[in-house]
Amino acid sequence: MALIAVSLLPDLDVLAFRFGIPYSAPFGHRGATHSLVFALVAGTGTALAVANGRRRDFWRVAIVICLVAVSHPLLDAMTDGGLGVALLWPFSNARFFAPWRPITHWHLFKPVQRPQSGPWGRVRMRRCTSRSYAS
Ligand SMILES: [Zn+2]
Repeated sequence: MALIAVSLLPDLDVLAFRFGIPYSAPFGHRGATHSLVFALVAGTGTALAVANGRRRDFWRVAIVICLVAVSHPLLDAMTDGGLGVALLWPFSNARFFAPWRPITHWHLFKPVQRPQSGPWGRVRMRRCTSRSYAS
């Protein structure tokens, strides 16, 4: 259960949209929470809680949890959408993509209103591009 939670933890940054933080900001989506530093801190913190004082198990547990934590941003970097992943935050705000991106960015769709199609408009889903997240 802890491994599942750690693997999903970086995407809590979608809450940033709720607070008006732009996608491209350091604390925007795929920003700080998708960094190697965050994976190290989240993995070590979770290992401290899970190892429950057993020092012998701590490092083994910490390594496994850190690897699980870092798998999330690395897999996100292999998607073909968004602005990339801030792997080196806080040392750099640069966003990175993997050289090989076979994963379709399927979950980032947003509704588009088409006012010309009726009084209520017609909502359809449009694939988001890097440009649509820049603001
Ligand atoms: Zn993510």
